[in-house]
Amino acid sequence: MPIVKNFFIGLSNNPFLNKAAKEIGPMFGAKKVVAGNTIPELVDTIERLNNKGITVTVDCLGEFVLNEGEAIQAKDQILEVMYAINNHNLDGHMSIKISQLGSEFDIDLAYRNLREILLKANDFGNMHINIDTEKYDSLFDITQVLDRLKGEFKNVGTVIQGYLYKADALVDKYPELRLRMVKGAYKENENIAYQTKEEIDDNYIRLIKKRLLNAKNVTSIATHDDAIITHIKQFIKDNNIEKDKYEFQMLYGFRSELAESLAREGNHFCIYVPYGDDWFSYFMRRLAERPQNLNLMFLEIMKPEVLKKMGVVVGALSTIGALSAWLYKKFKK
Ligand SMILES: Cc1cc2nc3c(=O)[nH]c(=O)nc-3n(C[C@H](O)[C@H](O)[C@H](O)COP(=O)(O)OP(=O)(O)OC[C@H]3O[C@@H](n4cnc5c(N)ncnc54)[C@H](O)[C@@H]3O)c2cc1C
Repeated sequence: MPIVKNFFIGLSNNPFLNKAAKEIGPMFGAKKVVAGNTIPELVDTIERLNNKGITVTVDCLGEFVLNEGEAIQAKDQILEVMYAINNHNLDGHMSIKISQLGSEFDIDLAYRNLREILLKANDFGNMHINIDTEKYDSLFDITQVLDRLKGEFKNVGTVIQGYLYKADALVDKYPELRLRMVKGAYKENENIAYQTKEEIDDNYIRLIKKRLLNAKNVTSIATHDDAIITHIKQFIKDNNIEKDKYEFQMLYGFRSELAESLAREGNHFCIYVPYGDDWFSYFMRRLAERPQNLNLMFLEIMKPEVLKKMGVVVGALSTIGALSAWLYKKFKK
């Protein structure tokens, strides 16, 4: 259903809707997949997950950072969360987008912000700092910043998007770093990335196996795909891969039962916890991946308090909801 996927990716890239949605606060069911926008809410969520033997990686939501002031604000919010994790003795680390730290207009500013974060992470027992991957046109910046930092810090890593033709070379380039393996969440063209689910899944599985056999650091297998998880678990067993060499990861609010059962089986498990009020792009990308997530949206839209709020922007967002449902029904196979 590429048309549905393109529709939601298009929405996720719309700065006006993102700004409007930020002012309104999480709606359309986003609350189920975003862990609040205050530190006490976040601490509660992490404590709840830690008590189930699950660690977390926190993403302070934020895109469309356009000036130095906004980049510094994003860095300060990340530091605030790191202090909270440390002060409450929580088991967690951070996932960061360098675009939040200013990379789209000043790569050196993003580097300096990230370095400040890594210095603080060292004070907090070498807390891990993951650089999330974004659209392909930011990949060069990510590797440039990573290459400058990885000599000085051992607690920095990044994400490999299995849909990219370049993913193979990146897995080979960074055996010593902790890497998260994902399929890839953005829309990329056929000169850059595999397009069909079959090709993406095949490449993703192949790269995870290669990484598990050759890496000198943890591999995070980040997927909700039970067929792939089962396949990789068997591979791990057949090849006697040590427990400390890998973990599974999933996004907060998705497949919680599967996540908890994998943790109960004794696998290291980490949940990616989005935090803050900049929820719109993140939520639209989740709808692009899996239009069934629209269920979350409709349960919420029908609530009287949401309907009562019907201002212009809420009206526009509700129309988007209705339109997306129509698109989903029309193009669902
Ligand atoms: C922890 C984490 C971090 C990530 N970080 C990044 C990043 O930095 N950069 C990036 O580009 N992308 C990132 N992603 C997103 C990733 O690239 C994929 O877009 C996303 O995970 C969807 O792909 P999938 O592997 O879960 O499987 P999909 O291909 O979406 O789904 C495969 C199958 O899994 C099952 N399934 C999936 N979701 C559900 C569900 N909710 N309920 C029931 N069954 C389900 C269904 O059977 C489905 O057919 C991250 C994902 C995770 C989990």
